[in-house]
Amino acid sequence: MALIAARDVRRVYRTGNVDVRALDGVSLNIESGQLTTIVGPSGSGKSTLLNILGGTDQPTSGSVVCDGVEIENLSEAGLTKYRRERVGFVFQFYNLIPTLTAAENVGIACRGIKGAIEPSEILETLGLAGRERSFPHELSGGQMQRVAIARALAKRPALLLCDEPTGALDSKTGDEVMRTLRQAAETSNAAVVVVTHNEGYSRLADRVVRLRDGKVSTARRMLETDI
Ligand code: ADP
Ligand code: ADP
Repeated sequence: MALIAARDVRRVYRTGNVDVRALDGVSLNIESGQLTTIVGPSGSGKSTLLNILGGTDQPTSGSVVCDGVEIENLSEAGLTKYRRERVGFVFQFYNLIPTLTAAENVGIACRGIKGAIEPSEILETLGLAGRERSFPHELSGGQMQRVAIARALAKRPALLLCDEPTGALDSKTGDEVMRTLRQAAETSNAAVVVVTHNEGYSRLADRVVRLRDGKVSTARRMLETDI
């Protein structure tokens, strides 16, 4: 069964007396252990979809079930619990706390979460052994992003949501970060969802969801021969 099942999801923003249909009837499934990319032009609804999957926004209508949780029916407190316990977030500019070390950045994110992975262990898995005590400003962009990925994975999320994770990196480092995310999907069994402007990364994806004007224009499953 799919980890996420979205059915006829609509999100309408009302500005003055104009309705903007940010999502206009989106249906899709997302599987655990897979890397899914969401692509499409600016304004096509990518961020809105990511926000709904991550429980920072709710649909105007339609249903989103993630890991058995009906996002559209959650209260504010329920959304907070869902975000904290089920979802890891990775951002374009890492969002690390500059006054904390790599290990502290990871540790603070999973305080009180049962079964979380030790910071040193997950940092080592991500190729950052020996960097536990480094502060963000002592790390390269790629290393900072891997700390951010470690922070997100440490709580063993069912879903890892990444918003332009390579947007601030050069292409070689961006490639490495995407490969790290691909590997994370396989080894952690999280559903990894990446919003990206870089169409080239679709070759690493199990699935490519293309949005256009708030609708899914194609949801393509990559073939073995494409990779
Ligand atoms: P993308 O991430 O693909 O650039 P978005 O999801 O940010 O697309 O936006 C989809 C549409 O919804 C756009 O037309 C955008 O202007 C509109 N939109 C997004 N957020 C808001 C908001 N908070 N208020 C009004 N309109 C919004
Ligand atoms: P290399 O040893 O040449 O860096 P790897 O295939 O070992 O190549 O790793 C590629 C990238 O994947 C590295 O950035 C590494 O940190 C990351 N990585 C390795 N193992 C895992 C894992 N289990 N989960 C997530 N990322 C991983």
